[in-house]
This record gives sequence, C-alpha cells and structure tokens, in this order.
Amino acid sequence: MPKYQALPFIACCISGSRALAAFFVELGAAMIVASTIVPDFSSFLTPRYRREPTLLTHRPTSSRVARLTCLSHFETLVQSFPIGLQACRAPHRRGDRHTEQAWAGRGGLPCFRYAASRRIQGPMVKRVLLAVGAGTACFTILVAGYLYARLSPFSYEQVSDDVYMVKGFGGNVAILRTDDGAVVVDSMTFGFQGKWIRKLAERLSGGPIRAVINTHYHQDHTHGNPAFAGTARFVATANTRKHLVAIDADYWTGEAAATLPADTFVHDHVMEIGGKTILSMYKGRGHTDGDLVVLFVEDRVLHAGDLVFNSHWPNIDLEAGSSIPAWIETLNAVADLGFDRVIPGHGAVTDRRGIRQFQTFLRELWREVRAAVKAGMTVDEARANVKLPIAKDFEVFSVPTVISLDRGFVIGRAWEEAARAAGSKAQPTAAGS
Ligand SMILES: [Zn+2]
Repeated sequence: MPKYQALPFIACCISGSRALAAFFVELGAAMIVASTIVPDFSSFLTPRYRREPTLLTHRPTSSRVARLTCLSHFETLVQSFPIGLQACRAPHRRGDRHTEQAWAGRGGLPCFRYAASRRIQGPMVKRVLLAVGAGTACFTILVAGYLYARLSPFSYEQVSDDVYMVKGFGGNVAILRTDDGAVVVDSMTFGFQGKWIRKLAERLSGGPIRAVINTHYHQDHTHGNPAFAGTARFVATANTRKHLVAIDADYWTGEAAATLPADTFVHDHVMEIGGKTILSMYKGRGHTDGDLVVLFVEDRVLHAGDLVFNSHWPNIDLEAGSSIPAWIETLNAVADLGFDRVIPGHGAVTDRRGIRQFQTFLRELWREVRAAVKAGMTVDEARANVKLPIAKDFEVFSVPTVISLDRGFVIGRAWEEAARAAGSKAQPTAAGS
C-alpha cells in the first residue's frame, strides 16, 4: 500500500466509521475551544477554503498531503463521510493525477472535491495548529498575567523606628526589628510570599525570625507560615488554633503542621525579645471569635488584624463567631490601648481615627440593616434599600469564583445576623454573593 494512503486507510477502513467520527468530533471540539479563545478563528481559518471550493484535480504526492486532505474535510464530514470512506478505499499511487471523472471511475467519489489543493490544505492545517497553539498561548499568558498582576505586588513601608508594614496579596504584615532578630505578625496568603517576608525581615533585623503571630485563622494571614519553620515560635489565640484545625485542616498537614500556632493563649500573651515588648491581646469577638491585636509597646504601633479594615469592605465571618454588635464593643477596648499608629488588616496605615471611622461604619451598617429586617425586608430588598454613605469609597476585594467582599456581601451578612437576632427565619445567603 502506498505510504501516503496509510493514514486515511487506517482512519477510514480499519478504525471504522465511529472512530473516525470520534476523531472529527474531538477536532470540532478543539476548534470550538479555539474559536472561543480566538474570536476570529473561524474567519481566520476558512476564507480560502470557501473561496476555492471546487478544485477538481489533485495530485497526492505524500502521506502528508493525503492525510491533510482528509483532515480538511472536517467541516463537511457529517454529510460526506460515506463518500469519503469510498474515496479513501480507492487505489491510487504516489504521483497519480486524478480528475474527478477518473477518480469516480475507479469506484471512488470526489470526496476531495472541496479541498484538493496542497496550496489550500497545507496552510489550512497549519492554521488550525497555529490558531490552537496561539489560542492556548494567549489563554496561558492571560491567566499568568492576571495571576502575576494580582500576586506579585509586594511593598513595605516604615511605620516607626523599628516597625515596618508589608503590603501584598492578602492581609497586611508587620515586621518588628529587635536586637535579637525579628517578630512577624501575619504571613499573607501563599508560601512564596512567606519566603519574601522572611527574607525581608531577616535583612531588616540582621537576625533570625524569633516569632510569628497570627492575628486570626484566615488564609490570607496564615498560609505563609510554613516559610518560617525553624527558628520561630508561632503564636495565636486558642480559638484561632481551633479554627485552623477545624476549618482549614487540609492545609495544615505535612511540613505545614509544624508551623501551626502552638503557643496559644486566651486573653493576653507577652514576649520580651531583643529589648522589645510584644503584647498580644484578645479583646473580644469581632471579625471572628479569635482575633488578637498586637501592641509593639516601645514603638507605640498596633497591628489590629482584621478587626480594622481601613476603607475596605470587611469580611464578616459569622461561621467563625463574628458578630457586628460585639465587634463595635471590641473596638472600644482596642481604641483604648497605648499606640500612635495602626496597621489595619487591610488598607493603608492609620491611627485611632481610622479605628473610630471603621467603628462608625459598623454602627451605621448594624442600625440600617436591623431597621430593614424590622421593616420585614428580604435580604435582596435590604441590599437594594440600605444606604451606607460612609462606605461610598470603600474598596472591594474580589477573587473570581472564590470571594467578593463588597456592599452586597456585607449587607447580606449583616442581614443574616440581624434576622437571627430578631428571631425571624434567616434565609441562607451564599458567602461571597
Ligand atoms: Zn480575615
């Protein structure tokens, strides 16, 4: 059998019609995917094919041409498949020149009628491959570009003589420089960010990391912990450890398990390191029921964790013990501490005013949403009607398909708590909606 007939013969006769049909279905699916990625794919692929539909003579000169000829039939395969099968069975040799009549006279039918020119066939298949390749590359570049744009920004600023705030994808991080290494508060979202923070902290302090304090259990404050294995002790409230183990258990296995906070407390925790006093305190429920704040006593800087969102829509984690009215009270106790500057969980460095502003926002949110619940509004009606002018410039934090901390989410969560408090039946609202 001539070499150039091997592929179509195998495809059409040995594999059988179902296998060939399956091949074309797959090819079609690939093209649909490609045409989704590259909107102009169809017109990019087919104009010459349509403009020159009836080249009646062809001269197969290699297996590549014969194979490509069959491939080029993908568009009319459903109708012409039986014809194609006959044509493929027709004997012809390398170098044969077939006219339509000769081809039909040998028992074949002009299955190559619509694509009988190397000039058309070759570039067409190349275009398919090129378009699929280009589409895949574009998609990969888009995804990589999105991830790079979201994850790579990483900056830090000095807040006091020895305290720095690190900003990146996740909660704000504090680094305290001491005469005996560094103390880090929170570790961001990913292990590689933890490595960046560790390098920075070691460079700034000129020593090892002595302690990592996690303000609460959320992954954007804890998942960088594994990068600090070795020299650091890991501090958190007992409730935070409980949530990490219960809610985020999958992450804290293997090597990460060694960086789960083991140094836990209920009310207060004090460390004296390198001439600095680090006071971690639990002041009550708020964002969760385990949030601590860290006071760098000598530097008069407070890391407030997610008890303070500065001009950002907050996460309200009812499932982990969050409560808006309790949060408002807890912030009174936090605001009474001895500090000048505040590192919030999210947003820019602030001070006591930032805490009070966020507290005022929570008060307004609670008052307005409670009134909406008392008026019998559904959660959607509350979202449509509640006015929160204080939050008009709040930033939204969103990760597609994961979470969106925005107005709708915050009002939904407040409505849930208010409805529960009012004793009425709360309709479930999806987190992140
Ligand atoms: Zn949080």
